[in-house]
Amino acid sequence: MSDCGSGDDCREACKRLFGYLDGVLTVEQAAEFEAHLKRCGRCADAHEAERRLLAAIKSSEADSTDLALRRRILAALRSTTLPSAPPSG
Ligand SMILES: [Zn+2]
Repeated sequence: MSDCGSGDDCREACKRLFGYLDGVLTVEQAAEFEAHLKRCGRCADAHEAERRLLAAIKSSEADSTDLALRRRILAALRSTTLPSAPPSG
């Protein structure tokens, strides 16, 4: 799932990917992330793939009651990117 490069920059970009898509980054963090995408094709590709997936999930959200499934998909995606998933309660 994660095709991010192995450099430190790419790891940081990878960690910020979901925050960026969720709109929870600071303006500064988002700008850094966007700057990385411009110079890193791998992260740009990863971002585009995740963005499309999230858009597809969100577009199906309106008429779907399957919120639990959506949450599980997102949790699974995050667990592949982050070293450890936060405890869910
Ligand atoms: Zn990168």
